[in-house]
Amino acid sequence: MVTRVLIGDIPVDVVLKDIRNIHLSVYPPAGRVRISAPSGMNIETIRLYAISRLGWIKKQQRKLRGQERETPREYLNRESHYLWGKRYLLKIVEREVPSAVDVQHSSIHLYIRPDASQEKKQSVLDAWYRKQLKAAIPDLIALWENRVGVRVNEFGIKKMKTKWGTCNPDARRIWVNLELAKKPKECLEYIVVHEMVHLLEHHHNERFMALMDDMLPKWRSLRDDLNRLPVKHEEWEY
Ligand SMILES: [Zn+2]
Repeated sequence: MVTRVLIGDIPVDVVLKDIRNIHLSVYPPAGRVRISAPSGMNIETIRLYAISRLGWIKKQQRKLRGQERETPREYLNRESHYLWGKRYLLKIVEREVPSAVDVQHSSIHLYIRPDASQEKKQSVLDAWYRKQLKAAIPDLIALWENRVGVRVNEFGIKKMKTKWGTCNPDARRIWVNLELAKKPKECLEYIVVHEMVHLLEHHHNERFMALMDDMLPKWRSLRDDLNRLPVKHEEWEY
């Protein structure tokens, strides 16, 4: 059960569970605050705990919102763009159709009509990022199908604001966030494995964690790398 309490003007979701210690988290992208506490704990004690941690909560929220502001791109020459965790400088090469993208040394070249709008530039680059993911994912799935012991019928790539991945266990379909093309490849692998493990275990419960520990022992550090970024894999849902 989730109870919402207000600490000053900050809403805090409190979840009582069968755990030993109180645990505080601030989640991207907006800085949502959640406290998990042992089931017997009194709400007033939890409130005092949250008040004592208010400085830290506000600092985390500022950090997350600051990261959010870094994301908009204007598609200008020498702007930073990322592929597989590596930074490249954008080079706009104006030409008539067809538009294209390629990587040369430390630059991503975007070949595009001189009158192209920012939206058009973004859509050409997004299509290129999608292509990179489409090329990388089948090998990862093939590698992990045997290790995890599941078959994936289909995968897709989509833009998602709050999740790095999602899945439909009945259809055995997994989806990954388009943004993953910009992160180190092992982050993509972590999300693919995470979603594949969901085909065995739907919930983020102990069995799920044990399977992940078994399959990909360093998954927690990969998760933390991703969580430092504005988009986060949240609770899996139907
Ligand atoms: Zn999940």
